[in-house]
Amino acid sequence: MACTPPQRFGLLRVLLPRPHRYRSLRSWVALLSLIVVAAPPLVGLGRIDLWGGDHQLLGEPVSFAKALFGGLLFGIASYLITFLVNAFGGRLFCGFGCPLSQANRLAERIAAERGKPGRTATIVRSWLFAGAFAAAILHWWIDPRLWIEGSLGARAAAVAALAAGAALIQGHARWWHWSFCRGWCPVGLYYSVVSPSTALGIRFDAATCVNCNACDRVCPVGLAPRNLPGEIERDEGLAIATTTGVHHCLSCGDCVEACEFILGKRGITPIALTLASHPFGEGEAHPAPTAAPAEPAETRQAG
Ligand code: SF4
Ligand code: SF4
Repeated sequence: MACTPPQRFGLLRVLLPRPHRYRSLRSWVALLSLIVVAAPPLVGLGRIDLWGGDHQLLGEPVSFAKALFGGLLFGIASYLITFLVNAFGGRLFCGFGCPLSQANRLAERIAAERGKPGRTATIVRSWLFAGAFAAAILHWWIDPRLWIEGSLGARAAAVAALAAGAALIQGHARWWHWSFCRGWCPVGLYYSVVSPSTALGIRFDAATCVNCNACDRVCPVGLAPRNLPGEIERDEGLAIATTTGVHHCLSCGDCVEACEFILGKRGITPIALTLASHPFGEGEAHPAPTAAPAEPAETRQAG
C-alpha cells in the first residue's frame, strides 16, 4: 500500500473484516455526495455543453459565459452549504462525505484484503465508484444526450475522458491518498482555517483508556486523538503550520472504531473515545506520543 502508514495498515487488516456503523454510514453519505454533484447538470440546472453547445442555467439555454458563471455560483453555493456543516461538525464532510476520501478507503480495503476472498468484488466496487465520480464531473461539461445522439467519435472521446477521470481518481487514492487531505485539499484547508466546530467531535475520557495506542496508530492524518486540543505542527503543503489538532481532525471516527475494538476485546466500558455532540477539549488531554506508538496486543494476535 503506497501511502497508508504501516501502523494504520496493520490495524485496518484487523478492523476492516468487521462491519462498523461508521463505515456503512460513510458509504451512503459518499454516494449521496456523488448524487448531489451529478444532479444539477442531469436535470439542466447548470451545464457547459462542450459537445452540442446546449449550455444550461436553471433549466434555460444560455450562452457559454452565463453557463460558466452559473457553474461558479454552484461552487459558491456548495461552499456555503459546507460552511454550515463546518459550523456544526468541523471537517465532518472530509470524514464522511468526501468522494475522494471514500476512494482512499476503497484503495486501502483492496490492499488490506490481499489474499482474502471478496477482494475482486472490492476492486470492482472501487472502479465503479471512481467511474461514477468521474461521470458526475464529466456531465457538467457535456450533455448526456451525447451517449445516444453523438457520433461514434464523440462517444469514444467521452468514454476516453471518463476512463481517464476514473484512472486519475484511482491514482489519487493509491498514491496521493491521505497526504492530500493532510496538506493540499483546498476544501480541507478552508475547513481548517474557519473556526472548528464546538458542537460535534472526538471526546476523550481517560478513565477507561488502557494506553494501547490504537487510536494514534489508525488516524489517517497522523493526529493524537486523545489530545486534539493540543498544539501540533504541520509542514505539509498548504496546511496551517501551527495550530491545534482540532483544526485538522476529519471527524472520521477511525480512532473511535479502533478504541471500540480494543476495549470491546477487553470488556471495558464506556469507550474512551467517542464521536459525539459536545465541546472539544472535554476530558483529560494526553500529550501526543513523541515516538511511533507501540502496536496493541490485540492487533498483533489478530493480524
Ligand atoms: S483524530 Fe480520530 S476522527 Fe480525527 S482524523 Fe484522526 S482518526 Fe479521524
Ligand atoms: S484506542 Fe482507546 S484505549 Fe487505546 S489508547 Fe486510544 S483512547 Fe486509549
